[in-house]
Amino acid sequence: MSLRPTIDFLLFDWLGADALAQRERFADHSRETFDAVLDTCERIARDKYAPFNRTVDVQEPRTEVCPDGSLRVVLPQATHDAQKAYAASGMLSAAQDYDVGGMQLPYTIEAAANSFFAHASVSIGSGMLTTGNANLLMVHGTPLQKQVFAANEFAGKWSGTMCLSEPQAGSSLSDVATRAVPDHGPLGTATAGVADAAEGDVPWDQDPLGPRYRLRGNKMWISAGEHDLTDNIVHLVLAKIPDENGQLPPGVKGISLFIVPKKLVNAQGELTGQRNDVALAGLNHKCGWRGTTNTLLNFGEGQFKVLPGQGTACGSGLDGQGNGAIGYLVGQPGKGLHCMFHMMNEARIGVGLAATMLGLAGYHASLAYAKTRVQGRPVGGHGPATGASKQATAPSGGSAVATAASVGADVTKVTKDAARPPVRIIEHADVKRMLLAQKSYGEGALALALYCARLVDEQHTGNPEAADDARLLLEVLTPIAKSWPSEWCLEANSLAIQVHGGYGYTRDFPVEQYWRDNRLNMIHEGTHGIQAMDLLGRKVLMEQGKGLKLLAGRMQATARRAVDLAQNHASGQGQATAMGTAQAADLAQQAAALLAALKAVGDATQAAWATGNPVEALANAVPYMQAFGHTVLAWIWLDVALSVVAQDAKLNIAANQGRISAGAYFYAYELPKIEAWLHVVNRREPVCANMPEDAF
Ligand SMILES: Cc1cc2nc3c(=O)[nH]c(=O)nc-3n(C[C@H](O)[C@H](O)[C@H](O)COP(=O)(O)OP(=O)(O)OC[C@H]3O[C@@H](n4cnc5c(N)ncnc54)[C@H](O)[C@@H]3O)c2cc1C
Repeated sequence: MSLRPTIDFLLFDWLGADALAQRERFADHSRETFDAVLDTCERIARDKYAPFNRTVDVQEPRTEVCPDGSLRVVLPQATHDAQKAYAASGMLSAAQDYDVGGMQLPYTIEAAANSFFAHASVSIGSGMLTTGNANLLMVHGTPLQKQVFAANEFAGKWSGTMCLSEPQAGSSLSDVATRAVPDHGPLGTATAGVADAAEGDVPWDQDPLGPRYRLRGNKMWISAGEHDLTDNIVHLVLAKIPDENGQLPPGVKGISLFIVPKKLVNAQGELTGQRNDVALAGLNHKCGWRGTTNTLLNFGEGQFKVLPGQGTACGSGLDGQGNGAIGYLVGQPGKGLHCMFHMMNEARIGVGLAATMLGLAGYHASLAYAKTRVQGRPVGGHGPATGASKQATAPSGGSAVATAASVGADVTKVTKDAARPPVRIIEHADVKRMLLAQKSYGEGALALALYCARLVDEQHTGNPEAADDARLLLEVLTPIAKSWPSEWCLEANSLAIQVHGGYGYTRDFPVEQYWRDNRLNMIHEGTHGIQAMDLLGRKVLMEQGKGLKLLAGRMQATARRAVDLAQNHASGQGQATAMGTAQAADLAQQAAALLAALKAVGDATQAAWATGNPVEALANAVPYMQAFGHTVLAWIWLDVALSVVAQDAKLNIAANQGRISAGAYFYAYELPKIEAWLHVVNRREPVCANMPEDAF
């Protein structure tokens, strides 16, 4: 099953993304150029990614020891080919200005185009990291840092990483312990000027690539931290600059950001031939997402010493002997996390999209399986069963039969006729339930991600008022765009395994890998728990709850449109069909359910904070986020369904019926779940927070 029709529908029929071409920044674009980008990415994903998804899972990255004792990472050839094809597509710099080689593509289209790769093989490429790294430098770097580092990343010659986490500092980045000290002149003296320095040396604070420091510390979990897919790797590293007493400043305010290239370069962006003091300590062997190397990196432990006079501008290192990784400060000292957070919305939408694509990949695989797997006979619906089949299939629980009979059910209809041929499993209601659940999670999450991507474009190119609204909406929606797909598209993957039965539990079918790959997404880019606390502890409160109010306004507007549509149909206005009238009436009911859910979330927000005590409010932040997320998705589904019913003439197209049904499924089976989640939030249920450790 192709992903493309869903993408096209959401982008163009629902979001009207082609209208972005009317904006000045995107004026050279049109529906045709957007289609061309989507076509190209779809093709590369099909040819260079999809066939190798299993290859990169079973041939996970391994290391070889080099003659100098360092470790080298070995990856399958397919990974090298995919990397080259992705770089050649121009997607690394798609959103950038023309004058730096970009396409000035709207982020909405870029995100949609990238989703083909994640659907085909989520881990084979790490382009998202390189683009995020280079985009950050385009905002916070000096002109030379952009020219030397970002430009080579956009060109695909070098790749990028994000080095935040440390073994002892994951969720809590304030505990980062990597140190960065100015790279003083020879033998540790503070070089006052070039005259004091060794030949070719440049004082630390006059280095053209940026104030030069020496870093020492360990970075854990670094994706794509070592490989030879590209000529160089640009590490963006969070570290702290010690005060005059050698103490690291506490909290996140003391964190600074540095460019630490794997191989040192000159101001012309040429490799100097000198390795930087960054060494691979080892690889992490992951549950999934194995196509991307995951590393523990040692910075500044002296494996690759860099001393003055070796063709690289530098001081004599942390010990006067050349150890310490050379890093160039980005932005101001102490503002490192601020620089990183600048890219967070897009990074988190990207994680949500990856989770979504894995959910949809599992859905498509299990749908195809369900259409061919023959097993079992339908319940009822074929007239009275034969005596033989009654005996073979009668429910064993006599009391259940009695109960059914006593409420007037025709027991013969719930039996099966063993004489009839078996059917494909897609004919069983329970299998349809599992498929619809996956569809509603995956396509709903995709719609949400593209909606958020459209907000990113609004924030960057809308008029000041619209841009500010988009900013606030993104603040509130981003934790959902990241976390909701991570949880529910993972559940979709579990259902995809279930649809396959025992076969799904084997490595002969792709669905178990999708589940393993997807399990990462609730962990990285802020764990589920951290995202939930961000939502309830910060995002819904910020600027006097303005973001939440704006979001509520958008939901109410959708609900109003549903009610208006139903009224128009009922009063026979326009060319309403009977089918459209029935659907519109259903959507009006969904609108009422949405408004009730919205009120319940609003009330729960108040109740959580009623005592003003964060310990009480945040103890149930995850159930709050689950209810919030389900309400957001219910809104998205109603809005999508409205755009289908509004085009009454297209209602009988199967894909559109599918969309209406997925929305109806969501309202019938999913939205009611919020009651239980909000119940504990409203009560500020203390059972978890109060559990004594020794009682576990
Ligand atoms: C495959 C993979 C790739 C990664 N790639 C990168 C990368 O490229 N760059 C990078 O910098 N990092 C990367 N990470 C690291 C990732 O961001 C961290 O794993 C994540 O931030 C969680 O940190 P941790 O593993 O130390 O878990 P911990 O922070 O120890 O969390 C453990 C558990 O405790 C909970 N918890 C922690 N603190 C709190 C709190 N205050 N309140 C409530 N609950 C809390 C968490 O929610 C979690 O459930 C990657 C991780 C993985 C697994």
